[in-house]
Amino acid sequence: MIYNFNAGPAVLPQPVLARAQAELLDYAGTGISIMEMSHRAKEFEAIVAAAEARLLALVGLSAATHRVLFMQGGASLQFSMVPFNYLPQGASAAYVVTGTWGEKALEEAKKLGDARLAASTAESGYTAVAEAPSIQTPPDAAYMHLTSNETIQGVQYHAWPVSGEVPLVVDMSSDILSRPFAYATPSLIYAGAQKNLGPSGVTVVIVRKAFLDLAQTPPASMLSYAVTAKNSSLYNTPPTFGIYLLDLVLQWVEQLGGLAAIGERNERKAAAIYGAIDATDGFYRGHAAPSSRSQMNVTFRLPYEALEKQFVADALRAGMIGLAGHRSVGGVRASLYNALEPHAADALATFMGDFADRNG
Ligand SMILES: *Cc1c(COP(=O)(O)O)cnc(C)c1O
Repeated sequence: MIYNFNAGPAVLPQPVLARAQAELLDYAGTGISIMEMSHRAKEFEAIVAAAEARLLALVGLSAATHRVLFMQGGASLQFSMVPFNYLPQGASAAYVVTGTWGEKALEEAKKLGDARLAASTAESGYTAVAEAPSIQTPPDAAYMHLTSNETIQGVQYHAWPVSGEVPLVVDMSSDILSRPFAYATPSLIYAGAQKNLGPSGVTVVIVRKAFLDLAQTPPASMLSYAVTAKNSSLYNTPPTFGIYLLDLVLQWVEQLGGLAAIGERNERKAAAIYGAIDATDGFYRGHAAPSSRSQMNVTFRLPYEALEKQFVADALRAGMIGLAGHRSVGGVRASLYNALEPHAADALATFMGDFADRNG
């Protein structure tokens, strides 16, 4: 039994993989694999339409007000696409930076326009998110950008810190679809699929139609949200297998009971690991301040580095993979994405207690 705590690409639901395997050689009686089919085939167009509708329904948004776009280039290309589409000459944008991914988003935006820091928690070592009083919101900003969950540091917003009066653009790569949330507040949400939604290679964008209408014309069609939307994500050949798999993951979330059920499940998993941290009275030290703790990526340190290495090695022998912290912060990181089964989190919590007993 392997427990997969990888940060991304990450664990996928077993039933989804089993179904993809069963359908791999003959999709829906067509006699060919979904991978061998034209992206203009009616079977594939139906998958794109179903995935868009399913995702909107899951997050409680309407097709009357929102669009879902399936793109490529990862969340990292979105760091550039957002300013290409929404940061024309003469305008400015505000960035809230609470970890490594927000830093990168700001760095890329600065290459293309007047992108400014609205708040940063760098001084604390990114142990917390930035809350409203510390965020400088220029009322004329074209948009405000933030990262809902900083995957590397393990800090997460548990409510939006701003009302969205200035259009809010959010990188939700590592916590999209993980719990009920106010999905209607942001004007644009983007996420690489490889944490909670499917395999790498697909990037999901959820955009308010009224905001889509404000998009500029970037220097290349492939960088345009409007072009992607107008062509229903089929302007060029999309990552067909990835979108197919993503729709299977959405069906799995539906069957579990939607975001309310998945949110409870994720809360229980995170509580098990944070409980194991707090139970040791200092042997494990959580990186995040309690109020900013991420339910998706739990980051913690041990008394010294060699012991952290031993923890990761011992865990590996017990079948728990992917626990080494990001190279930039060290320590341990347990990623608890949607598809991670609760018994995996329980197993890790038990292991943590035993390890602390042996080495504390
Ligand atoms: C993983 C991640 C990224 C980078 O995603 P790519 O798809 O590799 O470009 C960006 N932002 C966040 C919050 C992430 O977790």
